[in-house]
Amino acid sequence: MACDSEKKMSAELIDGKAVAAKWHQEVSRAAARMKAEKGIAPGLAVILVGDDPASISYVTAKERACAADGLVSREVRLPAETTQGELVSIVSQLNGDPAIHGVLVQLPLPRHIDEKAVIDAISPEKDVDGFTAVNAGKMLSGETCLLPCTPNGIVQLLLECGVKTDGAHAVVVGRSGIVGKPLANLLMRKAPGGNATVTVCHTGTRDLAAFTRQADILVVASRHPGTVTGDMVKPGAVVIDVGVNRVADPAAPRGYRLVGDVDFESVSRVASKITPVPGGVGPLTIAMLMRNTVLAAERALAK
Ligand code: NAP
Repeated sequence: MACDSEKKMSAELIDGKAVAAKWHQEVSRAAARMKAEKGIAPGLAVILVGDDPASISYVTAKERACAADGLVSREVRLPAETTQGELVSIVSQLNGDPAIHGVLVQLPLPRHIDEKAVIDAISPEKDVDGFTAVNAGKMLSGETCLLPCTPNGIVQLLLECGVKTDGAHAVVVGRSGIVGKPLANLLMRKAPGGNATVTVCHTGTRDLAAFTRQADILVVASRHPGTVTGDMVKPGAVVIDVGVNRVADPAAPRGYRLVGDVDFESVSRVASKITPVPGGVGPLTIAMLMRNTVLAAERALAK
């Protein structure tokens, strides 16, 4: 019998890239149909304040996805000195623009701007990131609303992969407002992709491993590589790694490589299914953003 260190990966890889590609195709078809039937393409406005390189590359990726899927994108680039009042006024103009169905403010914003105030200025019907207080409240109370992209992307991925959440024990590591907290809520909803018993862990959790070992579905969004190792996972669990971390790697072309928040090598020997990094959860977020923009456009045109 092979000892632990000789055991090879046994987990099936969950191909988030392939699932995202399928969603992009569906978005393209819906956008083309809307254009043919109503003469309007779904429109997404992306506001970028300042010149943070990471934010620029995220915005570029979103615009590329719009172009590829047949959505109209409008980039609003503003200098870092833009005041909160100016930004809120631009958001209000976009709220009233019938050619724009989704409004997204790229975060983080410069320090002198209150992010929450700006996000909450977005009309809930155009809040395609699902970050406004109104949509967060609607999600909690089970009302129809635009759902946050990464958490909803994970729930939809589980459905696509035939992972049964109903009755499962889902453990979420991380309680941020953009991943852990909304995901825990979606997993506990009495709805497809939900109805799980959910435990949420954070830095106040005593003995993290005692909880992660109970998980049928383990989602890790801690922002730290290696937060979960193989010995912390129940054999056969489904592991979703949300983390995206750069670690230095002189052998890699860019001098770094991307790793998640779980120790892939040891966890993939124990889990039944696992998302890789990159190529797992990452591609889902933009695909869900495109889906939300089409949904927002469909709802606006149905009024
Ligand atoms: P975040 O705001 O930094 O939150 C991290 C959470 O993890 C916090 O709740 C923190 O607890 C908890 N945590 C940290 N270390 C822990 C530990 N050792 N044990 C238990 N809990 C721990 O991060 P985030 O925005 O949720 O993002 C999480 C990760 O997902 C990041 O790597 C990010 O890059 C990635 N991400 C990926 C996508 C995507 O599209 N793939 C989208 C969003 C985020 P406290 O609350 O107690 O501090």
